[in-house]
Amino acid sequence: MKIYADNAATTKMSRPALEAMTACLAEVYGNPSSLHSAGQEAYQALTDAREKIAALLGCQANEIIFTSGGTEADNQALRSAATLGARSGKKHIVSTAFEHHAILHTLDRLKTEGFEITLLEVPPNGILSPEQVMDAVRSDTCLVTVMYANNEIGTIQPVSEIGAGCRSKGVLFHTDAVQAVGHLSLNLREEDVDMLSLSAHKFHGPKGVGLLYCRRGTPLSSLIHGGAQEKGRRAGTENVPGIVGMAAALEDSLKDLPLKQQRISSLRDTLIRNLAKIPGAYLNGDAEMRLSGNVNFSFEGIDGEALLMILDEKGIAASSGSACTAGSMEPSHVLLALGRSFELAKGSLRLTLDEENTGEEVETISKEVSAGVTLLRKIG
Ligand SMILES: *Cc1c(COP(=O)(O)O)cnc(C)c1O
Repeated sequence: MKIYADNAATTKMSRPALEAMTACLAEVYGNPSSLHSAGQEAYQALTDAREKIAALLGCQANEIIFTSGGTEADNQALRSAATLGARSGKKHIVSTAFEHHAILHTLDRLKTEGFEITLLEVPPNGILSPEQVMDAVRSDTCLVTVMYANNEIGTIQPVSEIGAGCRSKGVLFHTDAVQAVGHLSLNLREEDVDMLSLSAHKFHGPKGVGLLYCRRGTPLSSLIHGGAQEKGRRAGTENVPGIVGMAAALEDSLKDLPLKQQRISSLRDTLIRNLAKIPGAYLNGDAEMRLSGNVNFSFEGIDGEALLMILDEKGIAASSGSACTAGSMEPSHVLLALGRSFELAKGSLRLTLDEENTGEEVETISKEVSAGVTLLRKIG
């Protein structure tokens, strides 16, 4: 039996997304910038997808800039805010120590270009307080960027409050919502968010496509230069099938969302209860304010990568943190940011469930993790 419990790394495409995308790939081959009817057909598909996504997110169609995924959207948001800030002498950025590397490594680069970066410490439960964020804002701050939900421990941040605080201080606010969109209900009309990144493959859409939401009136500079696509904000022929697939995936993922969340979080809570019975097991991140599918534990005296290999042999796909650092022996920067010891950070396991997982699978995972931890402690 194969069990997929690594949905924070990527998800399987949903049936509606797959069908919308394959139909588009097969038939809608024109270039949306071409004036002939094949081009206009593609332009129409693009416009329909844009309008559908805007309606689902609660924003306007022209506030959406399609990108190649979450990483590009993050890069563009940060680069753009930095470029604009520098023009008025504002070269300070506030972020957190447990962001995704798409944010952290872009900030590293901006630092070498003369920007000052404040990386906020993360409390042990993995949830920042709005006060902590606002206290770091200065008169020369050009951007606050705080992720919506963490990709390793699933903790959900008080984005509405942080956004409201930034708005009242007149500072731009960006959120990396790649783990949140499609999994939490979100209405941009009700949020003080200036920029938001999302990625289709994290909610059962295709890989290599995402978007940056940029509130009307917020200036945005281009990261990629070339043609006039996306109103000059992102050059290059649009990934029409990918965008069509993303729109279908988002619609499907938000359908009956409260019901799905309830079902998945009940599986999550069973898994947490089971794994907490293993001696020397520590849950990472708040038990409640976390994504409905996220389980993350550290086990004393084991190596997380070795546990992953054992689970893989049993047909269980999991992760020992962020997939981007897999293969490297570095412990998770997220767990270290929470204050976990080096040892516990290296002995971590992330299991991320979705609506296809079953109660039976949760029991199998619990049994195999417990057996794997026992075995590793015996041979270690
Ligand atoms: C996956 C992920 C990204 C990167 O998105 P890609 O589309 O894979 O480039 C960025 N931020 C977070 C929080 C993620 O989980």
